[in-house]
Amino acid sequence: MTKEQIKQLAREYGADIVGIASMDRFEGSPVQMDPRFIMPEAKSMIVMGFRVMRGSLRGIEEGTFFSNYSAMGYGALTYTFIPMTVMNLCRDIEDEGYEAIPIGHQSDWRGIDNKGNLREHFSRPVEEGKPQPDIMLHLRICAYLAGLGEIGYSKMLLTPEFGPRLRIGVVLTELELEPDPIYEGPQLCNRCMACVNNCPGHAIHPTKTVKVTLAGHEVEWGELDCDACDVAFRGAEVLENGEVGTYLPGRTDTKPAHYSPFYNKPANLYNSGQAVCGAMGCTRACMIALEGRGVLKNKFKTPFRRKKLWSVDWSDYEPVENANMSLSELGSESSRKMSQAKEKLKETLTLSEKHDLEAD
Ligand code: SF4
Ligand code: SF4
Repeated sequence: MTKEQIKQLAREYGADIVGIASMDRFEGSPVQMDPRFIMPEAKSMIVMGFRVMRGSLRGIEEGTFFSNYSAMGYGALTYTFIPMTVMNLCRDIEDEGYEAIPIGHQSDWRGIDNKGNLREHFSRPVEEGKPQPDIMLHLRICAYLAGLGEIGYSKMLLTPEFGPRLRIGVVLTELELEPDPIYEGPQLCNRCMACVNNCPGHAIHPTKTVKVTLAGHEVEWGELDCDACDVAFRGAEVLENGEVGTYLPGRTDTKPAHYSPFYNKPANLYNSGQAVCGAMGCTRACMIALEGRGVLKNKFKTPFRRKKLWSVDWSDYEPVENANMSLSELGSESSRKMSQAKEKLKETLTLSEKHDLEAD
């Protein structure tokens, strides 16, 4: 099977863009992210990019349909569409007699946390010299090493087709394929800082940067505050001076931020979808900037931002409970309360009245 055949199949199965990395490009990777520990005999990594629909950001931009970005925008893409594509491609490769691993999800089983630290009391290496399970592939770095685009100041992968509006799936295989060159222009990130200035959690540092060498190329991005992003992307504002708020489950110090219309963070969609901020800085603002400069190939008839951004007034905020339950959880909760009330009522009834109540 040639590289061209693989790319054509990947596109037919649903990928928007495809690149190939050779395994030597991962030399120097942190062991917990080195795919060569997953498949020591791997010869190639096929990296596929799947566009997030610009339309999936429309509902948040308008302030009326937040779930679509978390669900169709990336949840369903990550947990349904990408797995199907990588599985189909792996079937074809294994039919040719080469092992292929479909990697189309983000795993909560990973041995490191969001900051890259080993998770304590989570897992241990199966033998000396091996990493702590599970390995976590850094998908954006994989895409960079397969030539799909560059890493922007926001640490997002920026591609010439879709800018930051992309999710990634990977196939690791023993099949040897000719690698694509690393992307070298035209340069997409011009350090405009729209991502920094529009991130509601101030999670992308304006001056502190991280520098790494990837396959011999120097790459630099702004330092990310994962904790700040974790709070802000779910639409929360942290309260100070002992004020109480129930926006985030399990915390008593958060209220809805001005860019969340929800009294409490709504339930996750497709396991991970809970981006109430609608990637306001790292994706929306960056996409608007890149489209404005005319550097993206996926062009639209109308600009994305068509009016002034809205802002919710929470100055009269009072904590409320339960609103962050899903509708089915709310249904179970109300059934539980009904049963409790029935049981209490039964205590006061005669035998025949109890019988009538059961018959209801
Ligand atoms: S918003 Fe500007 S600085 Fe930030 S990643 Fe995009 S192009 Fe680079
Ligand atoms: S997801 Fe939201 S909070 Fe996190 S970096 Fe992007 S814009 Fe900032």
